[in-house]
Amino acid sequence: MELKLYNTLTRQKTEFKPLEEKEVKIYTCGPTVYSFAHIGNFRAYVFMDTLRRVLKYNGYILKHVMNITDVGHLESDADDGEDKMEKAARKENKNPYEIAAFYTDIFFRDMGRLNIEKPEIVAKATEHIEEMMQFVKKLIENGYAYETSKGIYFDISKLDKYPILSNRKLDDQIAGARVDVDIEKRNPYDFALWIKAPENHIMKWESPWGLSYPGWHIECSAMGKKYLGNEFDIHTGGVDHIPTHHENEIAQSKGCTGKVPAKRWMHVEFLQVDGGKMSKSLGNTYTLDQLQEKGIEPLAYKLFCYTAHYRTKLNFTFAGAEASEKSLNRLRQSYLKHEESNNEVDDKIVEEYLNRFVEAINDDLNMPLAMGIVWEVARNDIKSNKFAKLLLEFDKVLGLDLVNTREYLEKEDKQEVPEEIQKLLEERKVARENKNWAESDRIRDLLKDKGYTVKDTKEGQTIEIIV
Ligand code: AMP
Ligand code: ZN
Repeated sequence: MELKLYNTLTRQKTEFKPLEEKEVKIYTCGPTVYSFAHIGNFRAYVFMDTLRRVLKYNGYILKHVMNITDVGHLESDADDGEDKMEKAARKENKNPYEIAAFYTDIFFRDMGRLNIEKPEIVAKATEHIEEMMQFVKKLIENGYAYETSKGIYFDISKLDKYPILSNRKLDDQIAGARVDVDIEKRNPYDFALWIKAPENHIMKWESPWGLSYPGWHIECSAMGKKYLGNEFDIHTGGVDHIPTHHENEIAQSKGCTGKVPAKRWMHVEFLQVDGGKMSKSLGNTYTLDQLQEKGIEPLAYKLFCYTAHYRTKLNFTFAGAEASEKSLNRLRQSYLKHEESNNEVDDKIVEEYLNRFVEAINDDLNMPLAMGIVWEVARNDIKSNKFAKLLLEFDKVLGLDLVNTREYLEKEDKQEVPEEIQKLLEERKVARENKNWAESDRIRDLLKDKGYTVKDTKEGQTIEIIV
């Protein structure tokens, strides 16, 4: 079945065909490891995971690079402010390498909890200083870069066209308040490739331009080129990367190799909170740990991400996330019911469901549509092992770890039933002992409204979450 993916560069959804027949080469802009990644960041990596899984489902093998930004990402994407790593190091009274190691470990721990596949190559910026320096030298040689007292800058006017990824008008940018008025720059929108380190700067390297450090954009161009070559298939990131970071990556690669590095650029929209911006300064960013404290497990957050297409904004609310937690439990219980049953189902029906699912994921990763099909199968009145197998097939793309359903449910059983529910069960027990059947039925209905089915067994009452 044809796989269609959107391309920010052409603003079109087109059939995906890799440069090589079987292997897909992808580059993803990874985290800046100066603090805990929040759930907004993880929306970007859930999208990355879906893309990987869909490509693999279509029979491709992947060569996927993700960078770890551990130097050079200034507070503003437009060359202003302090290096985020250094700022965190000062605040936490550690050196930037300790900061990077600590938050990188936690980032990958959280990726694991989300069952997100690790890219084949994870590349740290600080381990690629030489490649970046060579890239900058080449840009100078090719006439695209020049030196000022602050560093090495990219000369935008040397390009045939800039910008090409965003609709951003340079005049708007010039007129905007945030334009750097550095008189040494040839064009106001020239950006830093390499930055001369001030005296107190911790992360700095010997270079032809003195003790200095790389700008943020150069790391992705240099590492992409090193591992994937001058041209590769897909470049991913968040929508915030479009106007500056990715635009500048393209400029750098064109100046160095003459090529736009990736054929297709894919961007995930933002996760919002309560309909507005999510930002550390507003105190409304959440980590996976904070969600877990409220009873929302990481995989429920992953399921929550599937409620919106990756190219639309997604609004985070705790009510929404709690609903996803319940949905995940229902999905697991449905899976088990199918697994334990043996009713006959025509293979054609199974095939039809699978075709519809693949059609949805292959239509630019339409996960909300795909989830609709997943639920049709999960909730099917006919309980059949064939449907359980089909759900496991879907899970190759969903990555919800359905194969370990029993373990999750056992863990869940061990967790306490909410106090309110326990109280109702106790009241019902007393009613039954008193042969007050009307009261017993009333409480049973009340529990049903609250999402629990009560069964009366020889051992007493048992409850199940309604699927
Ligand atoms: P950073 O660690 O700041 O470099 O960001 C890591 C990734 O998270 C980038 O791909 C960003 O585009 C993405 N990102 C940051 N905030 C959000 C958000 N609220 N929603 C979705 N993606 C985000
Ligand atoms: Zn990048």
